[in-house]
Amino acid sequence: MKKDEMLIGRRAVLRLAAALGATATVGVLAADRFAAPEAPTAPRGAPGAGHADPAAGPQAQAARLRPSAYRLQPMTAYAPPAFRRALPPVRRRPFLSMSGVGRSMVLTFDDGPDPRYTPGILETLREYDCRAMFFVCGEMAVDNQDLLREMDADGHVVGNHTWSHPLVPKLRPSRIRDELGSTSEVIERALGTAPLWYRAPYGAWNRISFEIGAELGMEPLAWTVDTLDWTEPGTGTIVRRVLDGAAPGVVVLSHDAGGNRSQSVAALRRYLPRLLDAGYHITVPRR
Ligand SMILES: [Zn+2]
Repeated sequence: MKKDEMLIGRRAVLRLAAALGATATVGVLAADRFAAPEAPTAPRGAPGAGHADPAAGPQAQAARLRPSAYRLQPMTAYAPPAFRRALPPVRRRPFLSMSGVGRSMVLTFDDGPDPRYTPGILETLREYDCRAMFFVCGEMAVDNQDLLREMDADGHVVGNHTWSHPLVPKLRPSRIRDELGSTSEVIERALGTAPLWYRAPYGAWNRISFEIGAELGMEPLAWTVDTLDWTEPGTGTIVRRVLDGAAPGVVVLSHDAGGNRSQSVAALRRYLPRLLDAGYHITVPRR
C-alpha cells in the first residue's frame, strides 16, 4: 500500500461511512468533532493533567465508532464494520499518568526497537513477568519487526512514536498524518492490530496531532517521570530517578534506542526488582 493511499480526506471517510449506510455514525462523527473532547474518559478532578482510566470507555466510546482513514484501505478492508474498534475522542492534552490502577506504575521505552538494547530490556521484563509499553519509531520498526513481534508475544503494548522522530508542531498536517499513519501501518502489518497509543517526540503535541491521532484510533500518552536516560547520566542516577518518582499511577519515560542505551538497560535490572519489592505492580493500560 502506498503512503498516499492512506491519506484519504475526512470528506472521503464521511462519504464512505454514508455509503455503508452508517448515517447514525456520521451524525455522531460530526458532533464528536466539535464537542468537548474530554468527556468519556476524563480525568476525575485532575486539572491540568490527563489521567488515563483503563477501565473507562467501552460504552462511552461505542457511540463514537467510525472508520479511520487508513484502516479503510484494502489491507484491512476484510474487517467487517461491526469489528472495527471504537475510536477515542479528540483530546486537548496527553495523558500524563494512570488513574484507578491502584499501586501500579507504567514503564515506557521510546525510540526503538534497537537490536543492541531492546532485547536486554525484554529479557529483564520477562524475568520478572512484567508488561511495559514500547513507543516505536516506524523507521526503526520496519527493520526490526521480529522485535515488535517479541514485544507483542510477551504481552507488551506497542505504541506509535512517529516514523522519523520529528518535532511535530513544525510539520504540515499532511506530514503529521504520514508520520503517524505509516508507523501504525508497519505495526499493524507486523502484529495484525494497529497501535492504540501514541506519543509525540519530545512530548511536543499540537491540536492537529490530537485530531490525527484520534482518527487513527490512538490515545496520546505522555509521562510523569522523565529519567533523562538519553543524557547518559549514569546507571545509578537513572535508578534513583525512577525510585524517587515512584508513586501510584506514575508513567516512567526511558529509551531503548537513539544512542547508547546500555545505562537504561542496566538501570531496569536494578530498579524493577526494587519497585516490585516496594509493592508496586508494573502494568500497561488496556483499551
Ligand atoms: Zn523519542
